[in-house]
Amino acid sequence: MRLILLGPPGAGKGTQAQRLVARHGIVQLSTGDMLREAVRNETPIGLKAKAVMDAGKLVSDEIVIGIISDRIDQPDCAKGFILDGFPRTVAQAEALDRILTEKGLKLDAVIELQVDQEQLVHRIIQRAQETAARGEPVRKDDDPEVFKTRLEAFNRDTAVVAPYYAERGMLAAIDGMKPIDEVTRAISDVLETV
Ligand code: AMP
Repeated sequence: MRLILLGPPGAGKGTQAQRLVARHGIVQLSTGDMLREAVRNETPIGLKAKAVMDAGKLVSDEIVIGIISDRIDQPDCAKGFILDGFPRTVAQAEALDRILTEKGLKLDAVIELQVDQEQLVHRIIQRAQETAARGEPVRKDDDPEVFKTRLEAFNRDTAVVAPYYAERGMLAAIDGMKPIDEVTRAISDVLETV
C-alpha cells in the first residue's frame, strides 16, 4: 500500500503514520525526519538544509525529490510506504507522479488531515512542553514563532497540493481535530475502500 498523508505541520501526520506502520507493516517516509538525520550527520544535504529548516522555510524541491526517489528504491519500501511531509509543493507532487510512473508503482490513497490552524499553535506549544518533560530535545522549529513561519509556508506552497490530488479523484479528507483514535479509525475506513 502506498499512501500520502497531507496536512499542515502539527496536524498529527507523524502520529498517524506511525500507527499505519504498526498496522500495515509498511514504512513511514518522513522527509522532515530524513532531513533532520542529514543535519545530525552533517552530510552535504544536511549542511545545506539546516538554516532553512531552523527558520521554518522549505528546503528546495530538488533536494527532497532526490531524497524520496532514492529512498523508495530501498528494499524495505517494497511492501509499501506512507509519505509524511512530502509532497509539499505542486512541483514535488508532479515529480512524485513521474518517479512512481518510472518505477512502475501506483499510489493507493491520499489522505488529508484537516485542522483548525488557530488551534495548531496551541498544539505545538503542548508538543514542545511534552517533549521537554520527557527530557528529549525540543525541535528548534517547534518554537511558536518559527511554527508560524512553517504555517505560512504551508498556506503559500502546500495548501495547493490537496486540490492537485482532488482534481485527480484521489483525495480523502478527514477531520484531524478529532481525538487521535478517531482519526486513526477514519483513516482505516478510507483504506478499506481502496
Ligand atoms: P516536518 O518534520 O515535516 O515538519 O519538516 C520539518 C522541516 O523540514 C520543514 O519545515 C522544512 O524545512 C523541511 N522539509 C520537510 N519536508 C519537506 C519537503 N517535502 N519540502 C521542503 N522542505 C521540507
